[in-house]
Amino acid sequence: MVPEIILNNGVKIPSLGLGTYQLRGKNVERVVSYALDVGYRHIDTAMAYTNEKRIGTILQQNDVPRADIFITTKLWNIDHGYEAALKAIETSLQKLSLDYVDLYLIHWPVEGFIETWGAMEEILASGKARAIGVSNFMIPHLEKLLATTKVVPFVNQIECTPYLHSREILEYCKKRGITITASSPLTRGTKLDDPRLINIASNYGKSPAQILIRWGIQHGLVEIPKSTQEHRIKENIQVFDFMISKKDMKELDGFNEDLRVHGSSVHKKLAEKYLG
Ligand code: NDP
Repeated sequence: MVPEIILNNGVKIPSLGLGTYQLRGKNVERVVSYALDVGYRHIDTAMAYTNEKRIGTILQQNDVPRADIFITTKLWNIDHGYEAALKAIETSLQKLSLDYVDLYLIHWPVEGFIETWGAMEEILASGKARAIGVSNFMIPHLEKLLATTKVVPFVNQIECTPYLHSREILEYCKKRGITITASSPLTRGTKLDDPRLINIASNYGKSPAQILIRWGIQHGLVEIPKSTQEHRIKENIQVFDFMISKKDMKELDGFNEDLRVHGSSVHKKLAEKYLG
């Protein structure tokens, strides 16, 4: 139902998944299990979201075969360094009750990410992750990483919407075969009442959220919207039965206002550090 994108090592990633940031408590079970019921086969979590254990419980209870589900998790900032990273994947796997994750990402480019990447390569070789990648890496971080590593990250998970359309990093990653997963693809809801977006959505009989997701899909991004509400979880996956026209894509592309809804101050600090 959801088209897949082939990563540089041949691993297929569903182009749409469920985001789970701030999904906690009983909500995790309800939301993840409902998402699987309506066709989601890709779940995005992280050690820092503290919901891996509950997601693991649902994966065990659910009838969908493990091979049909794509699980991404991320190494947290306190787990950088070679030995710590090797330990961190074990902890995540244990919490998720899994033998392997499909994608393991470095959550943020904090100090020590080069040493950590050495461990990521080993995690890939051992089969504990089918693919490895990074998150929140801007061009200077990627430059630093690529100068010293053997394996080029298969994925970079960064914020990307029509309102934060950073063409330079998208182009940079595309040239190097790095697939982009767009975090906060719905701008955390902050732009869903933009009249220009509502106007485009009405042309297709779709919601503003569906237009934002479809925009990313048509740009070749992996989209991971999060919702706690059943009708929205369902709505967010119903984006494969229409195409946004070239003209409307162009209009959406022009919405850029460098709006970052997540971690903008951390981002600035990390960018400045590596820009020297
Ligand atoms: P999103 O951009 O996915 O927006 C989620 C918000 O939009 C929620 O408030 C939700 O409310 C609302 N919403 C969802 N669907 C609809 C809809 N159809 N119509 C109207 N409102 C809707 O925000 P996130 O920040 O959660 O990003 C998505 C995922 O990206 C995260 O969950 C996480 O997995 C990942 N992420 C990764 C980061 C990183 O550092 N790598 C940083 C940030 C996010 P409600 O729940 O009430 O429906």
